[in-house]
Amino acid sequence: MLFSVLAGVRAQDSMASVVSMQTSIEGVDTIAMRTMLLNELSIIPVNDMYPTWVNYGVHYTSTLPDSFTIEMKGYSMPTPSTRVTDIYGYRPRRRRVHHGLDIKVQTGDTIYAAFDGKVRIASYERRGYGNFVVIRHENGIETLYGHLSKKLVVVNQNVKSGDPIGLGGNTGRSFGSHLHFETILMGQSINPAFMFDFVNQKAATERYVYRKPGTKYIENGKVKTVGPQPKYHKVRSGDTVSKIAHKHGVSQKTIFKLNGINGRTVLRPGMTLRYQ
Ligand SMILES: [Zn+2]
Repeated sequence: MLFSVLAGVRAQDSMASVVSMQTSIEGVDTIAMRTMLLNELSIIPVNDMYPTWVNYGVHYTSTLPDSFTIEMKGYSMPTPSTRVTDIYGYRPRRRRVHHGLDIKVQTGDTIYAAFDGKVRIASYERRGYGNFVVIRHENGIETLYGHLSKKLVVVNQNVKSGDPIGLGGNTGRSFGSHLHFETILMGQSINPAFMFDFVNQKAATERYVYRKPGTKYIENGKVKTVGPQPKYHKVRSGDTVSKIAHKHGVSQKTIFKLNGINGRTVLRPGMTLRYQ
């Protein structure tokens, strides 16, 4: 019954935040806006989100909610490596989307489960992920670990956050040993950098709110609309926020705001910065 209910403690936390958010939007007086905000804060039990449990299909299509809050509580970093070698997103040259982050690991390095969960897929793809594992978590997301030299778990196995689930490798479509790590919400990949900061080896946020493009939401008492697909810049040595802003034709302020950083933040090569 791992996924049937959420822990009471989390439900209480969420009630507390609902109450405080309600208080903070006293000024927002339309029912529609309140409903919007409360929907965002509500927790959908993972069983309702995923009515089926099958041991295949990584990115099946499904209808995403307009917004969904992913709690990072209880997370573990999948690898202690801080070297992000490729970022998430569309690759114009190959005309395909890179659904995850690549992190440098050596063959044989232990890879750890990102949260408590249950192994949905443990499989092999010669031309794709190589040896890979997909775990479904109570917070509503699934995580994928690809190119492993060895899987240490089997399908339908329950795992704890931080449990070893495989060894790093170079199997499948991979050039040099690395971990391909994905965070997937109802079949759709989300940039793992929003949740996992590999460079600093910590959660990028306490809770990440996914919002569908075009969705209306409330920030500081104002209704806002989610803009076009976000775009990212991978920091190389010598980059500064000013250079990056200039390159992409946006203001430095935009970059600070989108990434929660300021002028004192030290940019390290391999970091991913959102500029749109
Ligand atoms: Zn990759």
